[in-house]
Amino acid sequence: MIRSTVDAGHGGVDSGATGLGYKEKDITLSMALDVGTILEKHGMNINYTRKDDRYLSLDDRAKSSNEFNSDSFISIHVNDANNPAAHGLETFHDIGSVEGNKLATIMQNELVSQGLFTANRGVKAARFYVLRYTKAPAILIELCFIRNKADMDLLINNFEKFAQAIAKAILFYHDIEYIPHRPSQSEYVKGKINTLLLSELVLVDGFKKDDINYVKINGLYIPIRDLLESLGLVVGYYDGFVTADLSSHYKPDKENIEAILLGNRMNINGFEKEDVNIVRIKGNYIPIRDVFKPFNLIVDWKDNIVIIRR
Ligand SMILES: [Zn+2]
Repeated sequence: MIRSTVDAGHGGVDSGATGLGYKEKDITLSMALDVGTILEKHGMNINYTRKDDRYLSLDDRAKSSNEFNSDSFISIHVNDANNPAAHGLETFHDIGSVEGNKLATIMQNELVSQGLFTANRGVKAARFYVLRYTKAPAILIELCFIRNKADMDLLINNFEKFAQAIAKAILFYHDIEYIPHRPSQSEYVKGKINTLLLSELVLVDGFKKDDINYVKINGLYIPIRDLLESLGLVVGYYDGFVTADLSSHYKPDKENIEAILLGNRMNINGFEKEDVNIVRIKGNYIPIRDVFKPFNLIVDWKDNIVIIRR
């Protein structure tokens, strides 16, 4: 079993950086617990230097990792600068550590590829105590700057996404496949009110990650983006899942909490009333009922308007 130490920076009397009403020690603890939980779900053995608000010396942290025989050490911090304009993400490793550099590079790239940064400050080498005195490949992530509003907004609004990206990078480093945490509908709706989560649908055999956004309808593989955009929906991606933003069409209804009204899409020339429920996608005419079949959505009609509901 791969062993990793997740170190929440600061704690107890040491608040770390403070700004905009936040204390670094609280953010690092929440993030460390979230990251560790995801890693544990992937079968890793996780050592937390702290699981509550307590003071630890830098030496305590390094020793904790060494006694645990960690295969990697991840210290989580939030940056500080007197200048509130300072912003961005950076990841440190010990000077001369090849494995540390590898892990730091994977980490920085993953967070950047997920858009979780306001500025890419890059991978840096530094003689930080916890990097130098831990035996395992060690990195220290400065998530963002605590006095910068844009940075803190990004972090707070995407907290779980940060945790997932950090965990994903650690798993990648250890050659463990990352299985995305599927947010529950309630979790999802909390963040983005008018969004339909279509996660199950993207898993079409034989497609790689970048290609899984296809759905098979009547024997045709159609990119989900094309399909949903042809229905006038805004397509996005969240945590590896395809989402359709229903905000412009969203008309919640007493009985059907989530419904899409596609009335303006029904006017396709040459089709009878019974047939107007057809949409043209990439040159193919597909009955709307079939379009939504793979999504496990129910298709209904009301006053010539198609209603899609869960
Ligand atoms: Zn710190």
